[in-house]
Amino acid sequence: MSFRFGPLIIPQSQVFMVSRLSYGLVNLKPAVPGHVLVVSRRPVTRFNDLSADEVTDLFQQGQRVSRLVERVYKADSLTLVIQDGKEAGQSVPHVHLHILPRRKADFANNDDIYDELGSRKRVRGVDNDERVPRSAEEMAEEAELLRSELGEWSSDASTLSDGRAST
Ligand code: AMP
Repeated sequence: MSFRFGPLIIPQSQVFMVSRLSYGLVNLKPAVPGHVLVVSRRPVTRFNDLSADEVTDLFQQGQRVSRLVERVYKADSLTLVIQDGKEAGQSVPHVHLHILPRRKADFANNDDIYDELGSRKRVRGVDNDERVPRSAEEMAEEAELLRSELGEWSSDASTLSDGRAST
């Protein structure tokens, strides 16, 4: 099974969840621990390019993955974001939902998270991406953890294979 993310081919080792129309990807440059992406399996750029079925699946899986990362990363809240188009900050032209576990005082100013989501922060007029890409090994390790937590968490194996949201 191969996974497209815009122009990229994603190794299966970095994917922690697959449903009929979406998949879950660990992040190359997480803005906070547990920052993951739910990606449409069909490689389309804009949210409005998705069919009704794809929207349903993306958001149902978004709920499922939200519960997962909130629990695993011991968070209290979540930031959910879609940067829909280049002018909105989208850097990978393929629909994806960002899911970021949030904790009390994780940023001095709560809304600084939105600066962190920019793939290229501009500091004094200069592009300055401070976050270092993670190694393939580190990403695979996190995907393995999330995969196993997702498996243990669902008592109904069918929810894992058919992509319906578990409770
Ligand atoms: P956006 O700027 O909204 O398009 O978000 C792109 C996201 O994809 C950012 O969070 C990046 O860190 C992440 N990203 C870019 N390349 C990869 C990759 N090869 N594997 C996983 N995540 C990636």
